Amino acid sequence: SLKSTTRLHNGVEMPWFGLGVYKVKEGSEVIESVKAAIKNGYRSIDTAAIYENEEGVGQAIRESGVPREELFITSKVWNSDQGYESTLQAYETSLKKLGLEYLDLYLIHWPGKDKYKETWKALEKLYKEGRVRAIGVSNFHIHHLEELLKEAEIKPMVNQVEYHPHLQQKELLAFCQKEGIQLEAWSPLKQGQLLQDPTLTEIAEKYGKTTAQVILRWDLQTKVVTIPKSIKEQRIMENADIFDFELSQEDMEKIAGLNKDERVGPNPDEFM
Ligand code: NAD
Repeated sequence: SLKSTTRLHNGVEMPWFGLGVYKVKEGSEVIESVKAAIKNGYRSIDTAAIYENEEGVGQAIRESGVPREELFITSKVWNSDQGYESTLQAYETSLKKLGLEYLDLYLIHWPGKDKYKETWKALEKLYKEGRVRAIGVSNFHIHHLEELLKEAEIKPMVNQVEYHPHLQQKELLAFCQKEGIQLEAWSPLKQGQLLQDPTLTEIAEKYGKTTAQVILRWDLQTKVVTIPKSIKEQRIMENADIFDFELSQEDMEKIAGLNKDERVGPNPDEFM
């Protein structure tokens, strides 16, 4: 169900499924999307300081009527705020905008070049002080994680990366599983670019599901948390309706064959 969770390495339960709000406009657009999601059973919302919609996300949470402790709220520190003091400050700003006392998950949005270790120390401090329930990273390659793990006191609980049938991240997924780091998929639908794929549409027809549902189900069956974005209630509902079928081994293998190591977003080594 939408409430089913993965247990992070510190014991915190994170929903396998949630709503992403990248490019969703601050104000009524984000408020209505998040409220529609929560009304339809979503419990996890993924935002970021750079999305400039944290205030609306917070308002939607308050208006949803669902108790705060039943929700799982993620935000991220933006590149220009990396560094120890600036990250601590950025966390306060995000909390204030959201109107929350704590986040469930706070991520380093991109590794950048040479500040992510300092930034990580700030996240560790927030975590040790009980200000945030889990901390993690985003867009980290294996080499970034290896470098971070040399000095980290606390291992990241999550790595959120671009992940979809055209970018299957097999080595990264194996590395994260070995280290107990939960992988989370961003742009799981490749921002809509996978929805016409003939292999996926053929599989979808067989199960009486949509192409989006097949892709999101594949995330779950590969043990990757997924956070598709939509602002349309019909699609918000459709995307969540993936708990009543199971892709066969054969279809999982067909999807595995679609990998092209092709990104829709930037390569983290080049994005500063
Ligand atoms: P996505 O793959 O979730 O695709 C979203 C788009 O697909 C929508 O705008 C819509 O056009 C289309 N869509 C959604 N559901 C559909 C359906 N059922 N039928 C047809 N079309 C549908 O793309 P995304 O928004 O880039 O990624 C999801 C979330 O991941 C973001 O909202 C954000 O929270 C997160 N994200 C994180 C990073 C990062 O650097 N950490 C980067 C990008 C996105």
